[in-house]
Amino acid sequence: MFSAHPIRKTAIWLAAVFYSGSLYAAMDVVSSFSILGDVAAQIGGERVRIHNLVGADADAHAYQLTGKDVKKIASARLVILNGLGLEKADILRTVRQHKIPYAEAAAGIDALTTEEGGHHHHHGHHHDHGEYDPHVWHDPVLMKQYAANIAAALIKADPEGREYYQKRLSAYSTELAKLDDYARSRFAAIAPEHRKVLTGHDSFSYLGKRYGVVFLAPQGVSTESEASARTVAAIIRQIKQQGIKAVFTENIKDGRMVQRIAKETGVQVGGTLYSDALSKGAPAQTYTDLFRYNVRTLSEAMK
Ligand SMILES: [Zn+2]
Repeated sequence: MFSAHPIRKTAIWLAAVFYSGSLYAAMDVVSSFSILGDVAAQIGGERVRIHNLVGADADAHAYQLTGKDVKKIASARLVILNGLGLEKADILRTVRQHKIPYAEAAAGIDALTTEEGGHHHHHGHHHDHGEYDPHVWHDPVLMKQYAANIAAALIKADPEGREYYQKRLSAYSTELAKLDDYARSRFAAIAPEHRKVLTGHDSFSYLGKRYGVVFLAPQGVSTESEASARTVAAIIRQIKQQGIKAVFTENIKDGRMVQRIAKETGVQVGGTLYSDALSKGAPAQTYTDLFRYNVRTLSEAMK
């Protein structure tokens, strides 16, 4: 029988090995929110399957762990968290209980404190969001560290993919450098005294620090703290005194507060910024799209 010929047998065996290789089971990775999930997907490629706890257009600050998500975490090979107080303690507790390897994307970042971020005003009540500003992703230069931390975590969980992840990390770092160039050129065209804007919650301090933009916000670094009447009154005064021309709503939250401030100050709403989540469709389906969209929207409104 020809099919029993040893060469043909080897060929069939090789084909089977090749076939099973192409069906390599992607590694299940849980990320705490959509922006981290996208960075992990860009570096992980076809070797990972990403599950976000907080999806597109949803607010990571207001997230509550569900039974379904506990199961997702328990069956993951790796969990990627932001750190710096973005995630509530019960997420990390669950990860540890199930002994799932995890990494914090913000590890090693020289984080801003909430005071340094500090264009927000006195909250009037205590909240447990810690002393660091978690919104590092609005600075593409610092995002290189996020990408490197995520790649290191993927390699640790899946050492066979080392070269693959390293190659993709290097390509992604080039993309991040382009984002920085883009933002520099867009903001350079705007006089420093015009680089002042208002957003709903204090998400953009890292962008502000990197590119010299002042962000005011009625809410602090968490969307969970209420803006007090005194804070809103102070912001309205500040907008009038400083001649702020650009006011923005955010995709993750109700825009009524910002719209009210816009109405009282006679300032136009310049658009919606993608603060703490990707969008479900265009224009911010990936982190790089999100960043470019925010920079374009901000710079056009400040002109
Ligand atoms: Zn936020």
